[in-house]
Amino acid sequence: MKIIVATTNQGKIREVRQIMDGLGYEILTMKEAGVEIEVDETGTTFLENAFLKAEAIHKLTGELVLADDSGLEIDYFDKAPGVYSSRYLGVDTPYEEKNRIILEKLKDVEDEKRSARYVCAIAGILPDGTKLHSIETVEGFIAHEAKGNGGFGYDPIFFVPFYQKTMAELLPEEKNAISHRGKH
Ligand code: IMP
Repeated sequence: MKIIVATTNQGKIREVRQIMDGLGYEILTMKEAGVEIEVDETGTTFLENAFLKAEAIHKLTGELVLADDSGLEIDYFDKAPGVYSSRYLGVDTPYEEKNRIILEKLKDVEDEKRSARYVCAIAGILPDGTKLHSIETVEGFIAHEAKGNGGFGYDPIFFVPFYQKTMAELLPEEKNAISHRGKH
């Protein structure tokens, strides 16, 4: 069975493929499905944005569509960047730079106040229009320095207590076993 993943984020696509490997689905990116639209993420919650993306692609294709809307909530920043995670500090700003700025802003903040979490909302629309959704999180802390080359985005500064490592230091299967995306 075909599933179209409603994202152009290569990091997410790679992880969705790894997570769903062996389940018998054919995972197609929007490009592979011949869909070349940009969906404005005008929602104020992860779930709203996930449904905006899923609905737009489902309307065009009529296929089974899965959309992931996710992001990082940093408690010290009142849960920012949240739904603005990809746009935070500029859409074209490299993550190396974004992560450096976040570490700088938190440089004098003690460990207990560095709590953060990744949130992932998944919206699914079946070919007959039935809608499904779920939301998962993984709790962690903002590290004191960026470490590791795995994953993507904010992973080098997201410290995972269970492994005592940043998300970017984990093997893909370790990240997927505990991540906000893998838990689905
Ligand atoms: P979206 O494509 O609008 O859902 O944006 C998601 C953004 O959240 C990404 O571009 C990253 O900035 C961040 N994000 C979500 N999941 C992860 C993850 O697993 N690792 C690192 N950053 C993530």
